[in-house]
Amino acid sequence: MGGKVRSGVAAVVLLFGGGPLLAEPPTRHALHGPQEISVMTGDVAAWIAAFRPRAEAAGITAAMLDAALTDVALRPDVVEKDRNQTEFTRTIWDYLDKAVSDDRIVAGQKALKKRDHLLDGIEAKYGVDRQVLLAIWGLESSYGVVRGDIPTVAALVTLASSTRRGAYFERELLAALRILQEGDVAPAAMKGSWAGAMGHTQFMPSSYLALAVDFDGDGRRDIWGDDPGDALASTAAFLARYGWRKGAPWGVEVTLPAGFDYRLSGEKIHHSAAEWQTMGVARAGGGDLPDCGPSSVLLPGGARGAAFLICPNFHVIEHYNPADAYVIAVGHLGDRILGGGPIQAAWPRDLRALTLEERVALQHRLTLAGFDAGGADGRIGPLTQAAIRAFQTSISVVPDGYASLDVLKRLP
Ligand code: CA
Repeated sequence: MGGKVRSGVAAVVLLFGGGPLLAEPPTRHALHGPQEISVMTGDVAAWIAAFRPRAEAAGITAAMLDAALTDVALRPDVVEKDRNQTEFTRTIWDYLDKAVSDDRIVAGQKALKKRDHLLDGIEAKYGVDRQVLLAIWGLESSYGVVRGDIPTVAALVTLASSTRRGAYFERELLAALRILQEGDVAPAAMKGSWAGAMGHTQFMPSSYLALAVDFDGDGRRDIWGDDPGDALASTAAFLARYGWRKGAPWGVEVTLPAGFDYRLSGEKIHHSAAEWQTMGVARAGGGDLPDCGPSSVLLPGGARGAAFLICPNFHVIEHYNPADAYVIAVGHLGDRILGGGPIQAAWPRDLRALTLEERVALQHRLTLAGFDAGGADGRIGPLTQAAIRAFQTSISVVPDGYASLDVLKRLP
């Protein structure tokens, strides 16, 4: 598959959630193939009757199931959101305009001041920089303002009983029921966004079970309430678990020299800062490239858009949500909260995003032309980008790996 879907302990997290104020990043659809669009089966009572023995076998008590599932109803709004996410896509510049808006930067700077003491404590304990925590908080819930008001159990029952990724959502439902059974939150207070992500930083239930922490020591891991302490600390624990390097950047904007070999772009190719500098890659606005270890040149809007040198911390944020646009938004919002400047390069705003149908057609035609796009699921991930680069090289156009309408039109 062309998508960057990760697997492993607590890796599939927050992929479906997202701040309710914020539309999905352009590749968040990446988890959904076109064939996986929800089809509601209708009879929730029958589904629950079949689910109960599986839940009891997993250790959920009959009393808990009675309490949580007796009056649960399917949520048409959840079905609708799910369908939209599958079909919807937009460009990275449209996404960044909203994700890193002036309002969100200013609100982040206020939160930075207000939560100074809390962030000192979390940074000291987990070794995760405050700006990345603030940025995730800002993107996922507008700094706690919009944590989602959809009952999590109802959302997950809806998604688990529909055809799309039912097994995944059933596991998340079991995790949600386990959280309720352990008493960290009352059933009525377990709310979140449409796809089961909960609280200030939109944890999926399985990630909560694996990594949430009781930072204030009151005996409950509370990511839902007004106080963001446990949620921000849990997010720090999550990033620490995946290897966050304190003090290192996520990446920096760079400029590329005339004649740059675009086949060197993409996440698969790593060099040191010194090596990139020798090749003429320079920090936008001047100064040395950060010496952050193996790093890659990323062109999320193609050769006509901004270029970034991305560091290992970029890949840590990917565990939270693997869409390049999301990771860049988190990194850039964090920089802006600390007073950094805007992205300097222009974006190719005359280009439009490909539709799902066009992305599938692109992958299909690449594969037919002998360039392995890793399937035709509509997910534009590193494999598809590599196939585009190879095709572009074969027809002597700039091999930037960007899935544009132009590439689609040039394919036989
Ligand atoms: Ca607590």
